[in-house]
Amino acid sequence: MKVDVGLRYGRLIVIDLINDKTNKRAMCLCDCGNVTFPQRTRLKSGATQSCGCKRSDDLRSRITKHDLSRTVEYRAFMKIFYACSNPKHNLYKFFGARGVKCLYKDVTHLIEDIGQSPPGFSSIELIDKNDHFKPGNCRWAKTGKHLPEPVQLKVWIADGVVFNSAKEVASHYGISLSTVYNRCNGYTWQGNEYGPWPGWRSEFKQTNEAETA
Ligand SMILES: [Zn+2]
Repeated sequence: MKVDVGLRYGRLIVIDLINDKTNKRAMCLCDCGNVTFPQRTRLKSGATQSCGCKRSDDLRSRITKHDLSRTVEYRAFMKIFYACSNPKHNLYKFFGARGVKCLYKDVTHLIEDIGQSPPGFSSIELIDKNDHFKPGNCRWAKTGKHLPEPVQLKVWIADGVVFNSAKEVASHYGISLSTVYNRCNGYTWQGNEYGPWPGWRSEFKQTNEAETA
């Protein structure tokens, strides 16, 4: 079929035919609003389908795809991946060490399941905490919703007051850290033997397991 006024080629609609000596061109209106003058043979073959805007759109979407590595989603994926697989990761004890695995193949797989992160949401939450990071068991959670604090394994009790660290006890009483340890751990010299300091002790604190990575 000959290129003619009114026909559409991709984003272009032919609005006039132009004949000069060497080239047969067409005057086209592109969907984006630009007017362009492609060779008719290129319209026919499909080589030209826009004023050039399609190419830059395609390029942009390729770049965007590539740039997933800089996105919130990619970082979130890497975080759960390492929290499950790298014993040196600070969240490993909450996930990998408990047998939790990351069963998403890659960030695209994650996005297919839970979509892109809404603004302000960059953590990934397990719905069933005893199951894996896998399709159907995850959702976005608020940024830093409960990123675990540095874990305080013990509380320190001195004269009925509970402290979160031995350091706090030391500064409260103006004594050394080792004195606190000795008193709370029951290694205070009592004259003839080591024993606990009355009213002082340390005990393990119940920690909430991290639910998000
Ligand atoms: Zn265009």
